[in-house]
Amino acid sequence: MVSENATISVLGATGSIGDSTLDLMRSLPGKFQLGAVTANKDAAKLARIAKEFRAKFAAVADDDEYFRLKDLLAGSGIEAAGGRQGLQGAAQAEADIVVAAITGAAGLSPAFSALAPNRRIALANKEALVCAGDIYMARVRETGAEILPLDSEHNAVFQALGGSEGKSADRITLTASGGPFRKFGKEELASVTPEQALKHPTWSMGAKITIDSATLMNKGLELIEARHLFAVDPSKLDVLVHPQSVVHAIVRFNDGSMVAGLSVPDMKIPLAHCLAWPGRLEWDAPKLDLAKLGTLTFEAPDLERFPALRLAREAMEAGGAAPVILNAANEIAVAAFLEGRIGFCVIASLVEAALERAERERLNEPRTVNDALAIDHIGRSIAAALLPQFAAKAS
Ligand code: NAD
Ligand code: MG
Repeated sequence: MVSENATISVLGATGSIGDSTLDLMRSLPGKFQLGAVTANKDAAKLARIAKEFRAKFAAVADDDEYFRLKDLLAGSGIEAAGGRQGLQGAAQAEADIVVAAITGAAGLSPAFSALAPNRRIALANKEALVCAGDIYMARVRETGAEILPLDSEHNAVFQALGGSEGKSADRITLTASGGPFRKFGKEELASVTPEQALKHPTWSMGAKITIDSATLMNKGLELIEARHLFAVDPSKLDVLVHPQSVVHAIVRFNDGSMVAGLSVPDMKIPLAHCLAWPGRLEWDAPKLDLAKLGTLTFEAPDLERFPALRLAREAMEAGGAAPVILNAANEIAVAAFLEGRIGFCVIASLVEAALERAERERLNEPRTVNDALAIDHIGRSIAAALLPQFAAKAS
């Protein structure tokens, strides 16, 4: 149980989840304190946040930006830090709750360093579990840290399980909005622009996860995340497209009962749960009006038009290094798509080619975070080496 006036650290404080966390804190003055905050490059925004909330520690990943942060915080009494060590310092700074919301594999080391006894981690950074799920969850058990899933689907699963273990479920269904291109044909998909893909129909999120939502890779990463969080066999996990994004997940138990988690699509709702569990936070939450909504619809995902979901499932089933390569190649592919270097459908093709290439390398299963980071590095190199030929194909 988290104490009154708990200290919260936010890793990735300048992003979308960071914004939601700070908004929620603003709406509950005096309820929480800010401990440490981090950002990748945006020293100005980070300094503003640290000063507004009188944080104790602020770290920016980019070494050059550290000097700017230091200047901006001079005389404030807030400690400034930079680089990998700075992020680690922030992750380990005194806090009751750490919101782990750095995007991508870059969040793995800080999310791992944050694990400590008597501490709750509200985990948004799904890529940490995709890259090192077994290692991460073993460390959770070793330290006695408490993990609460912040990803909305997993938060709904956690609540639906109501304290039962994952193995009491015979099916865990994560819903997907289907993204902005749910009804697009293959040809239309080939020519979508980053601008179109960045317009998510129901959720407002950072760029990388928004593109992942459009390709359905996000749901694939979430299957792997669920596998580790709830210690369930991949065969028990599935995905249902639900364009209204109101039902986030459904757990079916062995006795046939089904329990679903519903809310308005707003990350502050799972966040409020993570901050107060096992209690409930009293705040002015947006309320779902089901009568107004009228209809909730569900459909099976189309793996032919959205092959990223198939690739993620295959990587989950293969295990070992495959999920790390999947994630690394996807990060390279998404960045290339956002830069206009490859087409939308090429994202999945590049990931598939990187997985095939990596399979020939017979990489060992990662046993430590450093192993996972080394495989991540290999995955990025393979994808980057394949990129020019895929970029050429697209033009
Ligand atoms: P975002 O891009 O808006 O923010 C990411 C944060 O991480 C920023 O503070 C950024 O400065 C920091 N960051 C990025 N790269 C970094 C690096 N190399 N080193 C250190 N810091 C770095 O992303 P977001 O939408 O807030 O998502 C964050 C995480 O939460 C992702 O893993 C995402 O999958 C997960 N998530 C997000 C949402 C959402 O609604 N946004 C929902 C569920 C899960
Ligand atoms: Mg999600």
